[in-house]
Amino acid sequence: MSAPPKSLVSPAPNSEGPPGFDLVVSGGEVIDPASGRRGPYDVAIADGRIAAIAPRIEPNGAAVIDARGCLVTPGLVDLHTHVYAGGGFWSLRPEPVAWRSGVTCFVDAGSAGAYNAGALLDQIATSPLGLAAFLNISSRGLVTETGEARSASDCDAALCAEVLAAHPGVLVGVKSRLDHHAVGPAGLEPLRQARSVAQAAGVPVMVHIGGGPPEIDEVLGLLSPGDLVTHACTGQSMALLDEHGALRPAAASARERGVLLDLGHGSGAFSYAVAEQMAARGEWPDVISSDLHLRSVLGPAFDLPTCASKLLALGMPLEQVIAAMTLTPARVAKRADQWGALALGRRADVAIFRLERVEVDLFDTYLVPRRVDQLLVNVATIASGVVLEPLPPEPLPPWIEATAAQRRLVARPPSELRRPWAEALQAAEDFARLAIGTPPRYERGGR
Ligand SMILES: [Zn+2]
Repeated sequence: MSAPPKSLVSPAPNSEGPPGFDLVVSGGEVIDPASGRRGPYDVAIADGRIAAIAPRIEPNGAAVIDARGCLVTPGLVDLHTHVYAGGGFWSLRPEPVAWRSGVTCFVDAGSAGAYNAGALLDQIATSPLGLAAFLNISSRGLVTETGEARSASDCDAALCAEVLAAHPGVLVGVKSRLDHHAVGPAGLEPLRQARSVAQAAGVPVMVHIGGGPPEIDEVLGLLSPGDLVTHACTGQSMALLDEHGALRPAAASARERGVLLDLGHGSGAFSYAVAEQMAARGEWPDVISSDLHLRSVLGPAFDLPTCASKLLALGMPLEQVIAAMTLTPARVAKRADQWGALALGRRADVAIFRLERVEVDLFDTYLVPRRVDQLLVNVATIASGVVLEPLPPEPLPPWIEATAAQRRLVARPPSELRRPWAEALQAAEDFARLAIGTPPRYERGGR
């Protein structure tokens, strides 16, 4: 990362004014849920930090990004990703996604456990992006596709607690994947262990739900305020809805006591049938995350703004959508003093988007389409004051199944990837189909 792309940033002519700013994002509409600021503001950056926010800022020699017609938000915080590059089945490098998605902070959700956290911690320490991680209750993390918590010998609460305690502020919670593939005969035991480790450390548990057993009500009953249920819109047997499409009483009661719902779109965990029922009742996720990994990056999740566009299309208010990708996940990670806000003196993580009028189909993970009329499209991503330059997608590793259309996508030049990849994949056959069963049906339509 060196100079920003020339097409985007124009240097101001020499000016008589006082020196000071390196870059001014000019003329955009700021949405910053942390401060409540919304409206036309310029944002000035100096030495990698936010130096001024005001209705009009003279560049005085600084480079300028013309953000007229655009939304300017804090750099997005994607709370559920797999970015332990080289660390196992799912993980990818975050850099080829950050520059085109507005995401400046990635939280890894359990790719590493106690045995293999060391290399992830090295990546976190040296990345120019903001990184943190939930530590898997399974000591081996997600080296393999699943099954990490089936054997009691792989889940050692004392070991997990010790590694967690050694890296406060970087390891920000405990991940427990609860579905029949991940835990098998171990049932709820890995979650009980994760809960005890998290309680002692004062951090949340992020619990993954999918195809049971375990039973969803038993899982929800074990969660404490501040814990997160990820894959909140799963259509599999651990779905949060009853047969009428309402939140199950155990889910409603968990929400009431402060358990948070995280979208965690992923490659198998977003059902429009579920999301529409929740939308019809005004039940929006507290956190919007992509569950970005080597499969989901090929769609239909693609990236965080594409996931967020699906919720916008379902009627979630824009400001709430932005808060669910900035302020709220920053608070969950206990990084609200560094991430997810445009505040003076902060690390200058800034995202610029256009709400583009389109007519395209976006798919859920059952490959059911819904037509959307607007998409959140990233225009520029600024991390620590540096405009991130385009990077090509990383090559697909041989264990990831992909269709010809998905392989073509990975081969496209970076300049064509700003627009969500959805435009290149417009039919269900374009996507690799995963064995997640059929979508749930509810008695009445959600829309
Ligand atoms: Zn995940």
